[in-house]
Amino acid sequence: MSFNEIKGQEQAIQILKAYLNNEHLAGGYVFTGPEGVGKRMAAKALAKGLNCQDKNLNGCSVCSSCVRIENNQHPDVHTISSDEAQIKIDAVRQLQKEMSLRAYEGGYKVFIIDNAHTLTPEASNCLLKVLEEPPKNNLIILITDKPSLLFKTITSRCKIIKFLPFKRENLESILENDYKIDKDYAHFLAYFSEGRFGSALRFKDDEALSKRNNIIDKFILAANPSAELFASQSREDVRGALNFMSSWFRDIYMLKIGCSERDIINSDRRADLSKQALTFSFLELDKILNNISVSISYLEKNVNSRLLMYNLGMELWKG
Ligand SMILES: [Zn+2]
Repeated sequence: MSFNEIKGQEQAIQILKAYLNNEHLAGGYVFTGPEGVGKRMAAKALAKGLNCQDKNLNGCSVCSSCVRIENNQHPDVHTISSDEAQIKIDAVRQLQKEMSLRAYEGGYKVFIIDNAHTLTPEASNCLLKVLEEPPKNNLIILITDKPSLLFKTITSRCKIIKFLPFKRENLESILENDYKIDKDYAHFLAYFSEGRFGSALRFKDDEALSKRNNIIDKFILAANPSAELFASQSREDVRGALNFMSSWFRDIYMLKIGCSERDIINSDRRADLSKQALTFSFLELDKILNNISVSISYLEKNVNSRLLMYNLGMELWKG
């Protein structure tokens, strides 16, 4: 992934390219914005631009340096992420140690700290010392969708680059024209991902449409309803199912209040949505949507997911 391939972040990319062109890089950057808008892709692209053997500021994507950065195998480009919901001080000390060494390949050392809001206070303090005087040709990129949880002392020492979601209709046409995705599917991906490009592509790779149809046909509209469908599903799949359901009942709500057809996420199933709009009252829809969001939070607490879905189903299947 090079700068040219990141869609919809022209402003952020322009700022980064200007820094690259003028060789005027700060020691620390914070990339903020919701999940799935291209922050990680941009961090890699920046690392490529700095280390490309072809001196291509966009990253040529074919030299051995660019290829290894793409595959997370470059010895001078490190990603630090949290395995246990927290980034601890040891990880930052390790970073500090790496920084004190020369770059293996003579280029830039880049440290990408993913989900930087999970740095513990001790780790943040340690990082602060590094950010105060980063050695030359070292760059730290903090990535977060929750910038308010970062220490102000850290953000004040970094340049903040904001990544924004797309307008959903723009993302829809990119998916349709550049990715040759069928119109209905492109609409679903763009609206279900709320305009987040990376998320839309992930949903596509994960075959979101067939998974969603499975939930609609075998659970929501099932003639003989049962929650058996979820017995063998992973927690992640059940969470996905709840998100599909949330979009479905939100659509029904939106149809009932007469919102524009374009704003319906599941518009390829318009006929089924309209039928259900006649079945549920506003009050019932409110309750269902509330139950879905409560169920998502229960799921975090290791509740039996089949039981959870069965209880939810009782609200939907009223014969
Ligand atoms: Zn290259």
